[in-house]
Parts: sequence; structure tokens; C-alpha cells
Amino acid sequence: MHRISPEIIYKNDQQANTNKPFDILAIAAHPDDVELSIGGIIAQATNEGKRVGIVECTRGELGSRGTPDIRRAEAHEAAQILGLAERWNLHIPDGNISSSDENVLKIIAALRYFKPNILLFPAAYDRHLDHEDAHHLVRTAVFKSGLTKIGTALFDEQQVPHRPKRLFYYMQTYEQEPHFFIDISTHFTTKMRSIFAHASQVHVPGANQSSSEPQTFISSPAFMGLIESRARHFGGRIGVEFAEPLYSVEPLSFKSLSVLEGL
Ligand SMILES: [Zn+2]
Repeated sequence: MHRISPEIIYKNDQQANTNKPFDILAIAAHPDDVELSIGGIIAQATNEGKRVGIVECTRGELGSRGTPDIRRAEAHEAAQILGLAERWNLHIPDGNISSSDENVLKIIAALRYFKPNILLFPAAYDRHLDHEDAHHLVRTAVFKSGLTKIGTALFDEQQVPHRPKRLFYYMQTYEQEPHFFIDISTHFTTKMRSIFAHASQVHVPGANQSSSEPQTFISSPAFMGLIESRARHFGGRIGVEFAEPLYSVEPLSFKSLSVLEGL
């Protein structure tokens, strides 16, 4: 039996005693990845009453700006803005997200706790190798999480196997032709607020931010412009104001054509 004890970054008190299962789990390499990539999709899901969790692999301790403590506080604030039910950090070393047995078991413990129908995770092809490594780590863990002979215990509580029904990965820096889009027009403002919560990492318009730390790829005003223009571009492709793209590991299928009525 493998015992796993993740750091709980955030737990929504009002939802703490519910038996309602989680609907969606988003896994990220770093504390701000989900907000930057699919913050709108997450905000929309929680707005619809879905129970959503985020699991960060690393504390981003190799980042040029901020510290793990600062980033933890920022992730906590972003969780409130997005309406998350729960948020964890697995303390996998930043810059070394290998698919080691130890790391795979940490992801398995998360999958078996959240038991999501839909799993969102990083793409296999990206500028930051941690994102690619996280993709492969998650794929390995998803398969092994369904195996009964791999026993895990979360905080000493024995877990049962679980595999998510849908595996969707999200775009970070490098673009590939999306498989489908989600209209996030009414949740774009919430997405941006959740990104601005990560104030040590990104440019927050009008804020008095430290200029003593090194500038990075994502700390410039231009990067925030890219986030908005990308969302507008993807929105334009489907005839709405803002959209975020997703990719499906397996072919997308629907029970009936009528599922797509009204789109
Ligand atoms: Zn990242």
C-alpha cells in the first residue's frame, strides 16, 4: 500500500461536507498554468454548479519570480475567484516532473480522490518541457489508476481504482489546431481576475508591482495582450467574443446528433 499526503492549498468550506462527486479535475505542472490556459472553462464549469478541483504538480520553485510561499497564497486566492471546490499541490520537484513511480502514485492518488468524469491536463508538445513531462506523467497515471493491484492510501484512507471518462488536454504556449472550442465569453473577466491573482508572475495593469525581479516570458504587458488576443481569435473562429481550445486524447463521440442541437 502506497501512502500519499498532498498539500491541500484550498478547500471550499461550504462544499466540505457534501457527498457530491467532483465533476472535473484539472492538473497543471505549475501553480498558474490552469488559469492562463483554461481559466475561462473552469470559471464557466463552477458557475454551472460543477465541482471542480485543481492539482498542481510543482510549487514552481524554479520560477524566476516569486517564492513557493507567495505562489501558494496566490493559488489560494485564484481558487476562490474560480469557485473551486479544492486545490492541491503534490510537491513534485520543479524542472523534474519525471514519470517515476513516486510521481505516478501521487497523480493516481489525486485521480482516485477527485474521481473526475473529465480530466484536463497539459499538452504533450509545448515550449516548457515541464508541461510535456506532466502530460506523460498524467497519461501513465490515468492508466495505472484503473489497476486494482496498485494500492494507494490518501492520508491513510484506502482508495479504489478510478479512470476518468474523458481526457482533454489544453494549449499553453505552442499552438496546434484545436479539436474543439468552448465559448467563455461571459467568463473571460473571471479568467483574467484569476490570472491577476498570480501577481508575482504576471503584469497586473495599474498595480504597484516589484520591478527588482527579472522579467520573464509571462511577466510583460505584451504577454497579457497575447492571452486576450488569443481568446478573441479563438472566439472569432466560432463566432463568439472569447473562446478557449481543447484537445481530446480519444475520438470525440456523442450518443445522438440531437446532443448538438441548439449550438
Ligand atoms: Zn507552466
